[in-house]
Amino acid sequence: MISRPAIDLHTHSTASDGTLSPAELVRAAADAGLDVVAITDHDTTAGWDAAVRALPPGLTLIRGAEISCRWHGVEPAIPLHLLAYLFDPDHPEFVAELARVRLAREVRGERIVELLRADGVDISWPEIMAAAGGGTVGRPHIAAALIRAGLVATTTEAFGADWLGERYRLPKEDVDVFRAVELIRAAGGVPVFAHPRATRRGRIVPDELIVELAAAGLAGLEADHEDHSPAEAAHVRALAAELGLLVTGSSDFHGTHKTVRLGAHTTAPEAYERIVAAASGVTGVASG
Ligand code: AMP
Ligand code: ZN
Ligand code: FE
Ligand code: FE
Repeated sequence: MISRPAIDLHTHSTASDGTLSPAELVRAAADAGLDVVAITDHDTTAGWDAAVRALPPGLTLIRGAEISCRWHGVEPAIPLHLLAYLFDPDHPEFVAELARVRLAREVRGERIVELLRADGVDISWPEIMAAAGGGTVGRPHIAAALIRAGLVATTTEAFGADWLGERYRLPKEDVDVFRAVELIRAAGGVPVFAHPRATRRGRIVPDELIVELAAAGLAGLEADHEDHSPAEAAHVRALAAELGLLVTGSSDFHGTHKTVRLGAHTTAPEAYERIVAAASGVTGVASG
């Protein structure tokens, strides 16, 4: 039997809140036996070039990003993530929107740290920014500072209700989800809704929104993901079939910020081919 290629379409590097550099990420992807890996850092394309330069033979790199979005159809608005694949990284309006979101993340991160410090928690924002090393900053970076300070043992604990999950959680200024679909498409990219039924992360959007997003240009749904129960993944697959959307599976690898391993979930070649065929921003890269 000829084995099918192993395709993981959602990973993070130090360009956002992963712990492997883009170069280390692609090497780790090859070591894990992947044939295709996507780099999808939060709200940035900053890791793309380093990943391309370090691409090992036999591995294809899909350049992407995970866009911080919000749906304003309910109050308070619900945050959600869209994966964007193979878009033009120089599309002016999209670039401006991503820069705005990254800056808003810094303002919000500093405010979270101020709240913690007001309660006597001795962590430092400049130190957290330094540790992020120029990557898109997020709560996992604050979680790492809480771990360094000995206040929690794990990232999971830091995301608990007493800490960043609720008590010290502040909203981000994300991109309106319909605007995000429009921008990704305008930049020649392919939008896929990341972990749409991940109830364990917080509130999720209703299926009616996904129907509307499909009509607006959404291409696919991520079904196989560690934050989906088998029933949730099955629901996503059924909804995708109903709407004619493609289905992906992926690890959402974050290095040591999470326990999930590269290739823990994968995408079928047919769905991958549909993404590549629908994209016109940049191409996949294979090392020659
Ligand atoms: P932020 O983008 O700053 O709101 O932080 C969200 C990031 O933290 C996402 O990339 C998630 O992968 C990660 N995250 C969310 N919930 C958890 C959790 N319970 N444990 C570990 N990481 C989490
Ligand atoms: Zn993340
Ligand atoms: Fe996500
Ligand atoms: Fe992610």
